[in-house]
Amino acid sequence: MTCNVFFLEPTKSTISTALKVDNRSTIAKVNAVIPQLPGKSCQMAATTYTFDPDGDLVLVLSKPPETTDATSQKSATGVAVPSSNKRKLATSTQSVPLHRCSRLCLQPGCFREGIQRNAAGQLEVDLPDDDQSIMVIVLNIIHGRNRLVPKHAHLEILTKLAILVDKCQMVEGVESFSSPWINDLGTKKPLPNGLPGGIEIDYQKTIHRWLAVSWVFRQSDEFCNITAAAIVACGANLANKLDAELPIPETVIESIARERESYMSKMLEVVKGTIKQYEGKNVNCPCAKHGSDCDAMVLGSLIKSMVEYKVWPIPESPYQKFTLHHFWYIFALLNIKTLCRNIDTCQWSLSSIDHGVRESIEEKVDAIRQKVTGLDLKDFKR
Ligand SMILES: [Zn+2]
Repeated sequence: MTCNVFFLEPTKSTISTALKVDNRSTIAKVNAVIPQLPGKSCQMAATTYTFDPDGDLVLVLSKPPETTDATSQKSATGVAVPSSNKRKLATSTQSVPLHRCSRLCLQPGCFREGIQRNAAGQLEVDLPDDDQSIMVIVLNIIHGRNRLVPKHAHLEILTKLAILVDKCQMVEGVESFSSPWINDLGTKKPLPNGLPGGIEIDYQKTIHRWLAVSWVFRQSDEFCNITAAAIVACGANLANKLDAELPIPETVIESIARERESYMSKMLEVVKGTIKQYEGKNVNCPCAKHGSDCDAMVLGSLIKSMVEYKVWPIPESPYQKFTLHHFWYIFALLNIKTLCRNIDTCQWSLSSIDHGVRESIEEKVDAIRQKVTGLDLKDFKR
């Protein structure tokens, strides 16, 4: 499988900012379909939002919904909505099988605290950790209330959706919406290029989110794209600050790290090979007069340039903050000089700037870069 990843020049990424802005709008729309508490007198009551009037199941969500600039912190009466705002979502065990909606009840018949019958005889299940807005999206989808489902979802929403449906084993139930959302958003958009200054924590966060989304929704193209981006443009710290909630198998992170190191090692072998060639007894310079002196200049300028780009001494695996893209970029920029070039009377002074040494390194490193591809989803078992 091959997939291409497009990179931005090393400027500060605006992806995250754009996502936040778009997310506010989506979350605002979702929250708008959930009734707000009318005022202070009702602060302790839970608002019920009915998806199935004949349903036998009520999901009780107490985690406050995300409020942003676009979703006022105040109700229509101007009274602040309490942060502990609890919402009840009335559905049915037919739509949401009970064993899927609560970690308290993973085995048949193992009812525990957090599940009780209300006065109407419905089962009420407390879900204190689940996101209200995302649960509303899921219930709207599985109850066929399609007009209330957002037409587009941005990465933060998709990530939360992936976490929820993976936990509740409801992936298939939302696929009719999640697939077009993912295709619409896609990973084939510019990503930071992995050069120093282009790597930001927001970028890693974007990679983490896409890994979770593509994994949970089994999107092989997106999985290939985003793993390729991670291989090329992430350092050895890919797993740093990885949200434990994100459903990303360790084997995926390990494979990305393995691929990254393998390609970077191959690139370094190209440079090491050149150094070895010029350290040896054989003379590489074609000029009979300047031969070994010219070789010494090539070797010295090569190492000096590597010092300048901070890749001398040669980095050891796992190459820490270096990225594969970083290596690729540096090795194309190495400033290699020859003695022949500096002597006007030398027959080689004009015909070759550096006896083709830098070009040879660049070509070989570029060939390695071109072989980089993402991971194949099929190689990983759920
Ligand atoms: Zn020479």
